[in-house]
Amino acid sequence: VRFADLGLAPEILRALTDQGYVHPTPIQAKAIPLVLQGRDVMGAAQTGTGKTAGFSLPIIQLLLAHASASMSPARHPVRALVLTPTRELAVQVAENVKAYAKHTPLRSTVVFGGMDMKGQTIILKGGVEIVIATPGRLLDHIEQKNVSLSQVQMLVMDEADRMLDMGFLPDLQRIINLLPKKRQNLMFSATFSAEIKKLANSFLDKPVLIEV
Ligand code: AMP
Repeated sequence: VRFADLGLAPEILRALTDQGYVHPTPIQAKAIPLVLQGRDVMGAAQTGTGKTAGFSLPIIQLLLAHASASMSPARHPVRALVLTPTRELAVQVAENVKAYAKHTPLRSTVVFGGMDMKGQTIILKGGVEIVIATPGRLLDHIEQKNVSLSQVQMLVMDEADRMLDMGFLPDLQRIINLLPKKRQNLMFSATFSAEIKKLANSFLDKPVLIEV
């Protein structure tokens, strides 16, 4: 399989060529078609498997179908939200998303604790389709009304096992309560414990399990 066979848009394929990627990794080959079909996915995958592109590429593709070229912030509501346990992972995912979306009009940003709120606020208020965030700082921005999640169509919980280990479950629940009921959910976890299965069953709708 090549990326070109997965039905991705030319501007995404161009970004992959820029990255030097030709062949999807096993998790990408499994996840991309499922996400494009609109399915909820539970991916049991470690870092290093290419899981980031596995969720980012189809998300970009789905958002692209309704992308706005307008400069108005109101035309760029948050439509995809990626939650990560750590700032390091958030930054890494955000860099990947930027690289994959660079030939599209989609805007993305990263928010995490310890970074000044002001700069993040200006970007959020300017309108971004894709937000990559750690849960606590995202809640700070929600409380200050810097961002609305009322238009989110896709949610990713990355390294869900670490989010549980770090005690983020209450924050995750608060965030998920603010999202539209009708949305697509993707969850990735290095381990697939009983706790993770429970989390998947409570937040995902008939998820397809992918293991690599
Ligand atoms: P991840 O597991 O998402 O952290 O990705 C691991 C590393 O593999 C990252 O440095 C990616 O840039 C790289 N990578 C992801 N997908 C591919 C691919 N299809 N071909 C080559 N490298 C890739």
